[in-house]
Amino acid sequence: MNQTNQETQRQDALQQRFILEAAKDYAIFTTDLERRITSWNAGAEVMLGYPDVEILGQLADVLYVAEDRQQGVPQYEAQQAQTEGRAENERWHCRKDGSQLYGSGVITPLLDESGQLIGLVKIMRDLTGQKLAEGKLRESERRLRLAIEATELATWDWNLLTNEVYWNEQHFRLFGLQPCLNPLTPDDFLTHVHPDDRERLTNLLQQTIATRGVYDTEFCAVMEDGSQRWMSGYGRVVEEVDGQPARMSGVMLDITERRRAEEALHQADQRKDEFLALLAHELRNPMATLSNTLLILELTGGQDERMPLAGALSMMRREVAQLVRLVDDLLDVSRINQGKIVLRLEPLDLVELLEKATEATRPLIEVEHRDFTVKLPTQALFLQGDAVRLTQVVRNLLSNATKFTREGGHIWLSLEAKGEEAILQVVDDGIGIPADQLERIFEVFAQVDASRTRSQGGLGLGLTLVKEFIELHGGRVEARSGGADRGSVFSAHLPVLNSKAHESNH
Ligand code: ADP
Repeated sequence: MNQTNQETQRQDALQQRFILEAAKDYAIFTTDLERRITSWNAGAEVMLGYPDVEILGQLADVLYVAEDRQQGVPQYEAQQAQTEGRAENERWHCRKDGSQLYGSGVITPLLDESGQLIGLVKIMRDLTGQKLAEGKLRESERRLRLAIEATELATWDWNLLTNEVYWNEQHFRLFGLQPCLNPLTPDDFLTHVHPDDRERLTNLLQQTIATRGVYDTEFCAVMEDGSQRWMSGYGRVVEEVDGQPARMSGVMLDITERRRAEEALHQADQRKDEFLALLAHELRNPMATLSNTLLILELTGGQDERMPLAGALSMMRREVAQLVRLVDDLLDVSRINQGKIVLRLEPLDLVELLEKATEATRPLIEVEHRDFTVKLPTQALFLQGDAVRLTQVVRNLLSNATKFTREGGHIWLSLEAKGEEAILQVVDDGIGIPADQLERIFEVFAQVDASRTRSQGGLGLGLTLVKEFIELHGGRVEARSGGADRGSVFSAHLPVLNSKAHESNH
């Protein structure tokens, strides 16, 4: 070897040393074919903690964690680098002080000038920080996922670049679907949105993405089985790439129950308003009659033959009686609502009670030109009852039958014993009740089609009281009708006392 050659080689070696020393962020070291360390740069010292004097000559295996050593990973990687020309290595390594570092590196063959394999070179980067951060991120994602699963919250994630939508299990279940891992499209979601809401939601989503705003809306969803439920959707753009929205995420909540409650509240509120209007109307009529009659009496002193005193007084008595009944009904309903109605129960003969009640009501029915037929058992029928309340039931049913039957119409009242029950029926051939109203008419303030029944007056309280009183007696009440102009049948079933119980009560 001549002088120049030797000089060049010296220069090269020096240069390489400088490069190796400068690459402080990389651990670069070489081994011989027995995996003994033959060179060690400053980066390796910083990263792995061994000064070169200490590590040179040692097996590179000391840098591997015990488990990898036991599994022969150092040998395997060296072998792979020799045979394939390269081995990638990304795994935990051991520092001198026993702590661990996550290194990512490559191992390549080291050749001499003649191309002869003399060892291996390993270049490694320290990725411990990243690895730990990844682990933490994964852990926090796992915790978040567990929390979401625990709250049964339905979540969605929309990749705006690929247009793929991912739902969690709860989201699938919310829409009545089997969970699946494949990505969906925004259209898959929109098919579950009611057609009336589709366009609005599409626009809202686009607008939210464009303005990076918040998507917060309620809509009607169509389930897999065709049923409809109310949902609340919430979401926003959570990731941007190069200033472009890349991902939108959010949650979905079934708010059907809340919506129903709101609707019920709204209806109740509306009904209350209607009721107040009705009440004012109901009070005004008798009061107008009373004040007019009073005025005439004042002016005429009861001497005018067109308004004789006796007639005026009886008219006023009738109107006052109506007002008193109205107020009594209102007080009863309010007591029912507060659970304050108490029955005064005593053993009583229902047949006798009905005889008295029908005789008292008959003139009121007949004066309206309705034909009234009563059919009662010949034998007494005893039950534990409150005579005042049961009379009220009969009066209300008969008063309705009269109100909702035309002149010349028929009304039948009957009582029969069947097993442990007494069945009281009030039947008429009047205007009838539409099938879809049969349950509702027992609700407080409920009236069928105001325009049809309004002319008859009333506050929609009568049947509420009937139902409540019958149920307080342990019975039940039902309404039937063939429909418009087919008349109505009201049946009250009441438990009777068997004869023995009755005897023992005496
Ligand atoms: P009100 O008679 O004061 O309106 P009710 O609670 O007694 O209140 O009755 C509620 C509604 O049920 C009535 O407004 C009427 O529409 C309907 N209804 C009750 N009884 C009859 C009947 N015999 N025939 C037809 N409709 C009836």
